[in-house]
Amino acid sequence: MKNNKSKKQQEQTVPKKPDVSGNNGKGCNDKNCPIHGSLKLRGRTFTEKVVSAKSSKSAIIEINTRHYIPKYERYEKKRKRLQVHNPGCINAKEGDVVKVQECRPISKTKHFVIVKKVS
Ligand SMILES: [Zn+2]
Repeated sequence: MKNNKSKKQQEQTVPKKPDVSGNNGKGCNDKNCPIHGSLKLRGRTFTEKVVSAKSSKSAIIEINTRHYIPKYERYEKKRKRLQVHNPGCINAKEGDVVKVQECRPISKTKHFVIVKKVS
């Protein structure tokens, strides 16, 4: 009869979960982030696919367009590669479709920044 209530005395302490995962919101201290930093956006926008994201905080997108030549009544294909800033909180990978917008020059070759992931 003494052993009646000793079974329920285990595990009252529930481990707390951290609510915010690292890559979302507060983990971002990038000055050149369009959402958390102080970077102003202006100019042109593109929605294109990332073809390379090897270096940190940078990505390369590829823009394919057609240009009409009146003399031959045909189109020529044009391909342009654009180096863009890839903030840590967005962290786009190769193959992602992203929206980029023009900003002030961040480095010698970067004057566009990824604003959001489309897919
Ligand atoms: Zn950010």
